[in-house]
Amino acid sequence: MAETLDWRGAVPGLEVLEREPMDRHTTFRIGGPARWLLLPGDAAQAAAVLRLCRERGIVPFFLGNGSNLLVEDDGYDGVILSTARLDKTAGEGERLYAESGVSLARLAGLAADRGLAGLAFASGIPGSVGGAARMNAGAYGGEMAQVIARVDCLDPEGRPKSLTGEECGFAYRHSIFCDRPWLVTGVLFTLTPGDPAAIRAEMAELNRRRREKQPLEYPSAGSTFKRPQGRFAAALIEECGLKGLTVGGAQVSEKHSGFVVNRGGATCADVLTLMDRVKARVLEQTGILLEPEVELLK
Ligand SMILES: Cc1cc2nc3c(=O)[nH]c(=O)nc-3n(C[C@H](O)[C@H](O)[C@H](O)COP(=O)(O)OP(=O)(O)OC[C@H]3O[C@@H](n4cnc5c(N)ncnc54)[C@H](O)[C@@H]3O)c2cc1C
Repeated sequence: MAETLDWRGAVPGLEVLEREPMDRHTTFRIGGPARWLLLPGDAAQAAAVLRLCRERGIVPFFLGNGSNLLVEDDGYDGVILSTARLDKTAGEGERLYAESGVSLARLAGLAADRGLAGLAFASGIPGSVGGAARMNAGAYGGEMAQVIARVDCLDPEGRPKSLTGEECGFAYRHSIFCDRPWLVTGVLFTLTPGDPAAIRAEMAELNRRRREKQPLEYPSAGSTFKRPQGRFAAALIEECGLKGLTVGGAQVSEKHSGFVVNRGGATCADVLTLMDRVKARVLEQTGILLEPEVELLK
């Protein structure tokens, strides 16, 4: 198991954090300590981590920006591989390459600076390029699948692979990476020429709409539940009179019922109890079973 390997010094140059509080690495600001949090600085270090994990029978958890993640209060007794230090970018013509730890906000800003359109939708999504590619993140009619030309990744043995956008099997909030334990290391985007000022204006407008509708003043993990077929989770939750429902520090947002927010000091247990109550009431009143969008790491 994970404890049998002391990661300090196991891979030359690898940044290693032991018993690292995960509330520092999730947008919910919730989560106990991770036994090991590893931060490779490049794809070669990431591959070395994956090979060592494979040899020891360890299944690492991949962490992007932690913006769709709920970590248990007891923490995670295993290995977390963070992409936070995979943060390089490069561009040529209409193509932009970003390593998986680059934030979508930075990526969208870079594209705008270069006069490349197609990523304005992503500028307010608080995820990383890798996390967003994995779940085909989207908003305001745009989604990652529309702009991804190629995804570079590592398989569990640390071998590099490259997939075209088509090979990624993108669907609504889904890709092949949801079914395969491959680490996304970088993404090549194909964009279209545009006017930097107009792209910036579009980003500003979309982010204004976001601030108006979403409770960005509180920590959260975005939409708590997936969109049920033909309905909106937020509308169902509101219809059932659950807006503002509170358990400990966790609350169904008064501004947007689709979000559970951390009003201060919320625990993972608070959030899970609140989610259970919401699910039970919505099922009882509407017959619809809500499925969590937020991923639980335990
Ligand atoms: C305020 C707020 C607003 C949001 N708005 C939106 C929105 O409009 N649209 C939307 O789609 N989402 C939205 N989200 C949710 C979230 O930002 C996205 O799901 C985002 O894509 C998650 O990326 P991440 O890097 O934070 O992933 P994480 O939360 O770190 O991880 C999510 C999953 O991806 C996996 N993963 C992460 N990195 C990699 C990698 N490099 N390779 C393989 N697997 C990886 C993890 O193992 C985990 O299974 C919002 C969240 C918040 C907090």
